[in-house]
Amino acid sequence: MDIDYTQEERQFQQQVRGFLDENLPRGNEMWSKRDAWFKSLQAQGGWDVPKWPAEFGGPGWTPVQHYIWDRETAGRSLPPVLPFGQVMLAPILMRYGSKEQQERFLPDIRANKVNWCQGYSEPGAGSDLASLKTRAVLSEDGSKYVVNGTKIWTTMGHMAQWMFCLTRTSSEGPKQEGITFLLINMKTPGITVKPIFTLGGSHHVNQVFFDNVEVPVENRVGEEGKGWTYAKGLLQHERSGIAGISRTLTALSKLKKNARSVRVGDRTLLDDSSYKRKLAETEIELRALEFAELRSLADAQQTGEPGTASSILKLKGTELQQRVQELTIEAAGPYALNAGFKEAGPKFSKMGMMMYLNGRAATVYGGCSEVQKDVIAKRVLGIKD
Ligand SMILES: Cc1cc2nc3c(=O)[nH]c(=O)nc-3n(C[C@H](O)[C@H](O)[C@H](O)COP(=O)(O)OP(=O)(O)OC[C@H]3O[C@@H](n4cnc5c(N)ncnc54)[C@H](O)[C@@H]3O)c2cc1C
Repeated sequence: MDIDYTQEERQFQQQVRGFLDENLPRGNEMWSKRDAWFKSLQAQGGWDVPKWPAEFGGPGWTPVQHYIWDRETAGRSLPPVLPFGQVMLAPILMRYGSKEQQERFLPDIRANKVNWCQGYSEPGAGSDLASLKTRAVLSEDGSKYVVNGTKIWTTMGHMAQWMFCLTRTSSEGPKQEGITFLLINMKTPGITVKPIFTLGGSHHVNQVFFDNVEVPVENRVGEEGKGWTYAKGLLQHERSGIAGISRTLTALSKLKKNARSVRVGDRTLLDDSSYKRKLAETEIELRALEFAELRSLADAQQTGEPGTASSILKLKGTELQQRVQELTIEAAGPYALNAGFKEAGPKFSKMGMMMYLNGRAATVYGGCSEVQKDVIAKRVLGIKD
């Protein structure tokens, strides 16, 4: 594996750096200049939808170009995009959606106009997602599905106008085969969204209830009963994204600076040998994981898919995210208990506890760590049950 950038890739890296220096809004301009930022990205040739292929208006980047973009943007604050539509649903619509669905939904997703949420998990169907029970029954005249059941842990469900949802249309045969992928307008009568408050005290996940919710048949993506195939392919991309290696490298370098600002006697925390060892161990593992990511990229250059290595990246990537959050709490000491409410202690302690508490979920969502270990054992190492 050659891990050096080619001449073209180095040029691309310079182009990205120059573009960010010139166009990225800073500080308070992040919101006021948000639209101008997206326009400037679009003018670059689809950089506003980096993951989209050229035929749908994206830049058609290679996996290495994506990697360079991720590395160059990880240390900077970018105006946020709504991930569920652009990153998760759009590729499914591009591949399996009808022309009408693509024309109806993709422009608004691209313009960040519509919030989507992901309705996959249910009570009793998380890791074992194919056991989902939310039922969709086709009406006699074949014009609509009637949906009953519940979805849980629906991130941003309370703010979403639409949900992409896995429903059960048949209980015959293997459980993966009776699943149908529906697009559901969240304003449809019969939908109730109830908040779930998480460990960090914030409200971003919900339970969603469906009581005789009518969904027009034209909102079904692809064929009835094939939803599992459509949803499954995307999980590998979701897992690679959650791994967040570039972001953790940036977080680690910020942590080193912060540790230097904490006094321990007449020295700083960064001089403390025990703390320094923990930082070094974390950095070594992160750098090793970075090489695993590069290896996965080299594979993806050949196959176009991240492959099962995405499970290794997700497993280790989320563990290391949590490690950095734990070391941040350790650096903040008792001030970590501020949790953002009181003006005392070092600045970084304000967000530290929130990041730490919310970060606990990273080894659960997108497939829990134990499930990733199963995937690695079976599909990477070839170990049979
Ligand atoms: C913050 C957050 C946001 C989320 N957002 C969404 C969303 O927007 N949309 C959505 O559809 N879902 C979402 N989820 C759900 C997420 O995908 C599920 O939580 C995840 O798949 C795990 O399912 P579960 O919670 O039912 O846990 P379970 O499947 O019950 O697992 C619980 C624990 O049991 C153990 N376990 C499970 N299976 C195995 C196994 N095979 N071997 C060994 N041990 C095992 C593990 O320790 C695991 O952590 C979100 C979850 C969280 C926490």
